[in-house]
Amino acid sequence: MTEILIRGGRTIDPATGTDEVRDVHVQDARVAAVGHDLPVSEGATVIDATGLLVGPGFIDLHSHVHSIAGQRLQAFDGVTTALDLESGLMPLERAYREAADQGRPLNYGFSASWGGARAIVLAGVEQTANIVSSLSVLGDPRWQASSTPAQLDQWIELLRGELAAGALGIGVLMGYAPRSDPEEFLAVARLAAEAGAPTYTHIRELIEVDPLVPFDGAEELVRAATETGAAMHHCHVNSTSRRHVDRVLGTISRASAAGARVTVEAYPYGAGSTGIGAFFLAPERLPAMGLRPSSLVLLPSGERIADEARLREVREQAPGTACIVEFLDESVPADWQLLHDSLAYPDAIVASDAMPVLWTDGRTDSRQWPLPPGGTTHPRTAGTFTKALRTMVRESGTWSWPEAFRRCSYLPARVLDDVAPGAARKGHLSPGADADLVVLDPATVTDTATYLASTTPAVGIRHLLVAGTAVILDGELVQDAYPGRPLRGEPR
Ligand SMILES: [Zn+2]
Repeated sequence: MTEILIRGGRTIDPATGTDEVRDVHVQDARVAAVGHDLPVSEGATVIDATGLLVGPGFIDLHSHVHSIAGQRLQAFDGVTTALDLESGLMPLERAYREAADQGRPLNYGFSASWGGARAIVLAGVEQTANIVSSLSVLGDPRWQASSTPAQLDQWIELLRGELAAGALGIGVLMGYAPRSDPEEFLAVARLAAEAGAPTYTHIRELIEVDPLVPFDGAEELVRAATETGAAMHHCHVNSTSRRHVDRVLGTISRASAAGARVTVEAYPYGAGSTGIGAFFLAPERLPAMGLRPSSLVLLPSGERIADEARLREVREQAPGTACIVEFLDESVPADWQLLHDSLAYPDAIVASDAMPVLWTDGRTDSRQWPLPPGGTTHPRTAGTFTKALRTMVRESGTWSWPEAFRRCSYLPARVLDDVAPGAARKGHLSPGADADLVVLDPATVTDTATYLASTTPAVGIRHLLVAGTAVILDGELVQDAYPGRPLRGEPR
């Protein structure tokens, strides 16, 4: 039996707002007690947390990292559970099996992949539970089309099967098939409502940006939530709203006030990342978003797209190539304010949209630590949570520390409560909670990754426990720690 005592830290339970110096006693994979001067058996590991914050580890609802390398970067960002809910992976059983076979430092889980189900039915592309190959189908015009009623029935059945197999809801990449029939989105919402499972949507384009879109993306989501009663999560409101953050948050706020079950997430970066073949990165679509070909940088080569001809060429030849999309300039105060406002919105959840780490020689993972040189990703993979803490707590004072833990740990777990009974033990610190814990230095915690050096681990995460096992101890990675466990949905 493992026994760990985290002694004398400033202990934060975002479920109750408690913030006081206490000990946390961990036995096996659970929190056994939280209190003053807790006794401990001889031979137990004692972690001195004097001057440090102790709280439930961060739960990332939006991580496309399916690798040991990427999860380790997220561990140094304070994350203990990394879930791919916006895209999902298909087939679900294979995704869970591969994660279990390879071992994961962090807890993991997946939604049913709307993109994957549509790829099978509309484009005949088999799915291999692989995020890198799923990115490449998004630019396929067959996949972007509307479904016939028979096709719709087919892929709805596939999604139903994935929910029955334990998916954590349905991930919907609507923004990548923005001309598809809005009725399809309602069908997904109805399925979700019926199954008691949330949806996680990268919304269709906003009407301000694309007047030809059949339905404004933000309105479509709240309408579907209102009409069907489904719980619907609006992904990365910062990146899909760009300069229309206020309008989109207003749309969400009105719908929530009227009783719609809508949640929202954001990450503190002015650039996004996706596959270069995405619908919205077509040369003729860029101006409406205030972008130029040179706003796009390819990964892992670092090539900045020179002109329209080069953009057409890469989209044609290698549509799945990961790229950075510079949509806001963080150094411009008005642009930074939009990111700040996305995060500051009441109950907005911090979620990273972490991307795979890729090496120029084609490798997509490594057990080596520090990571072998030459790997690239979006810096949000390594720095979303620590950057949110730095900017929203320490620099702007917008959040208290308990509020930060509420947005990084507590609220994301609550999004999962309906679908995954295991979520009830996460995001708080009561006895019986999962011992997914982060111990951080409030004075120094910060991101360090940049667009040019994207795999530099954050600093200030002193200790990190996942299911009661240390993944980070005294600021160092525990190299043989793979304690990550699956979080799965339980069908109604
Ligand atoms: Zn997205």
